[in-house]
Amino acid sequence: MPVLVMKFGGTSVANLDRIKRAAKRVGVEVAKGYDVIVIVSAMSGKTNELVGWVNETSPLYDAREYDAIVSSGENVTAGLMALTLQEMDIPARSWQGWQVPVKTTSAHSAARIEEIPNENINAKFAEGMRVAVVAGFQGISPEGRITTLGRGGSDTTAVAFAAAFEAERCDIYTDVDGVYTTDPRITDKARKLDKIAFEEMLELASLGAKVLQTRSVELAMRNKVKLRVLSSFEEQSDDAGTLVCAEEEIMESNVVSGIAYSRDEAKMTLVSVADRPGIAAAIFGPLSDAGVNVDMIIQNIAEDGRTDMTFSCPTDQVKRAEKAMEDAKASGEINFHDLIADTEVAKISAVGIGMRSQSGVAAKMFKTLSDEGVNIKVIATSEIKISVLVDRKYMELAVQALHDAFELDKAA
Ligand code: ASP
Ligand code: MG
Repeated sequence: MPVLVMKFGGTSVANLDRIKRAAKRVGVEVAKGYDVIVIVSAMSGKTNELVGWVNETSPLYDAREYDAIVSSGENVTAGLMALTLQEMDIPARSWQGWQVPVKTTSAHSAARIEEIPNENINAKFAEGMRVAVVAGFQGISPEGRITTLGRGGSDTTAVAFAAAFEAERCDIYTDVDGVYTTDPRITDKARKLDKIAFEEMLELASLGAKVLQTRSVELAMRNKVKLRVLSSFEEQSDDAGTLVCAEEEIMESNVVSGIAYSRDEAKMTLVSVADRPGIAAAIFGPLSDAGVNVDMIIQNIAEDGRTDMTFSCPTDQVKRAEKAMEDAKASGEINFHDLIADTEVAKISAVGIGMRSQSGVAAKMFKTLSDEGVNIKVIATSEIKISVLVDRKYMELAVQALHDAFELDKAA
């Protein structure tokens, strides 16, 4: 029988009623003839609570115990989902990651899935089981310890199962009914997209459109898994939600498909560093070692052998970045006069695969912002994306203006 993967996020399994509602959706697909693999998250808020308990008990915790504790939320929902399905007379059972087994690396709290052997679950399907309910977000390391995949990791579990079982599709049930041209909370002109290319979704996911874990989209793209995002709160038809798919499946691509934003950005400038070979390595090496996720980088024009280096990173990593730079200065690796942190900025990005073949997108973006009197502090571009840093107080305005300028209210 064809296999379908259905993943239910935390809000979709937040209580017993919602688990029932989700189980009914599963029942619909079983009735169509699918063998279904259901991947569940923990009840919403549960993982945060568990992480809180870990931190309270042991601030410098053993990451292996962190994973043992934090993975438990999914075990509960997997068991409850299996019981709910059984109550509906659907043959189902639950599986924890290690039972499948979902084999991962030993990078605790950020493990990667290496292999999902499908024999155990397929043997049960062959015996008449119709639904395998798998606890998302978790696996087992080569050392036999429980691992987790990083926050939001059950999306990645779902895609990995879809690839391993050659599922027809991977449906991600969540609390929104699809991927939008921008955040509907910022403008009511935001439109749901019927289809979006993997690469666009990747940019939108990493830009903070929090629908899917970035890694799950990468994995789907690599394995050509058809991914659908849809709401578990509405009656669903076969073409509901947004299909995340290969570019070739999208007939007419929009020049810009979406405007993403990220509120918690900081801009940091190292004032007057020596302009010499190796200086960038001497700055960004220690930042990376300190776990700072540097995004945009600008090196200014040098004068008298000195230059300013500006980079952006998430606001909550500013302290870590400052410490890394002060330490590098103290050890003589780099020298700078000042380190200025501007924590009141936001990043706005226009994303679209159509940009590859269309010129003038950047010009239009900059003109739109200038017409609104919004000053651009940093610009970065890639083949399918243009990002700018602006003062955070203009974030909403900038998103709305760009959404209008690129006529995304007419998108579909
Ligand atoms: N429960 C985990 C988290 O909250 C994994 C997930 O829901 O995707 O991050
Ligand atoms: Mg999620």
